Amino acid sequence: MSELRQDPVTRDWVIVNPERASRPHDGAGAASGACPFCLGNEAQTPEAVETIAGADGRWLVRAVPNRFPVLRMDVRETAGAPPPEAFWRRLPGYGHHEVIIETPDHHAQPGRMPVAQARRVLEMYVRRARALAGRDGALRQIVLFRNHGARAGTSLAHPHSQIVATPAVAPETRRRVMDEIAWYDENGGCALCRTLERERAAAARIVLETARFATIAPYASLAPYHLQIVPLRHAPAFLEIGAAELDDLAGHLTRVLGALFDRLGDPHYNLVVQTPPLDLVHRSASHWFVEILPRLSTPAGFELGSRIVVNVQPPERAAAELRAALGAADAAAKEA
Ligand SMILES: [Zn+2]
Ligand SMILES: [Zn+2]
Repeated sequence: MSELRQDPVTRDWVIVNPERASRPHDGAGAASGACPFCLGNEAQTPEAVETIAGADGRWLVRAVPNRFPVLRMDVRETAGAPPPEAFWRRLPGYGHHEVIIETPDHHAQPGRMPVAQARRVLEMYVRRARALAGRDGALRQIVLFRNHGARAGTSLAHPHSQIVATPAVAPETRRRVMDEIAWYDENGGCALCRTLERERAAAARIVLETARFATIAPYASLAPYHLQIVPLRHAPAFLEIGAAELDDLAGHLTRVLGALFDRLGDPHYNLVVQTPPLDLVHRSASHWFVEILPRLSTPAGFELGSRIVVNVQPPERAAAELRAALGAADAAAKEA
């Protein structure tokens, strides 16, 4: 059973899926022989939906259906569902959930990956996002994310990302889209473009700027080392990303994750591609970005109940520390 239920007051959707409780965990450091994502263990996963292979024909990035999906492809029943005006709104738990295995190497670190491999991973993000977006009109949103480390909620250590295509708009995305459109109506522009302008002028919270992206520690950061990697040009949706942007993002993202690794020693984090719903792209107001939220502390009752975050680190300090880590990495690379 998998279904979506909507809270009648907040309109937030929730997925109810008891089967997810039985998915496997390898703990922190299981031997790679037991890992279903390792080279040679392909039979332990469902058949790949897409692979990117090297010159020798062996896979370098592999996308497979999730064995314990939050949403399923086979539940597209509508019989017995209450009509849309019913007080309790629900949707069958129809959707797609895939895993992107980022490398054959169990012990690879995303912050230490060769840029060419990071580029392949991003290429797979785009290919799978476009494939799922084009599948049918019932799907409204693509959520692309990586959980790195147990505190970020990952159940397997082998580097992997996930992609979920949902028939409902996620609460976080709905709020962001509404806020972006309201900002546009009031100010006549894109809120993130304007933010980026100010951040670049002040520079205090800029971590890294390359040809096409800037990483900022947001003014109202939600956690220590909270980062946003933002396209410099106004870019409404991730699915529209071009080859030159992917090239730049591969190096940019690797350097930023490398700086987090150098500064914090393999922090657990969630990485999410924040992009508007497929059918709700406001060309002028929406601007996609990559969000990185390190999991260094555990939110407690006040934060969970009030949604007011208490961040113990000013983002200006986070940005300065990460700039220093990047500078040191560049100096070491020059020496080598
Ligand atoms: Zn593995
Ligand atoms: Zn913009």
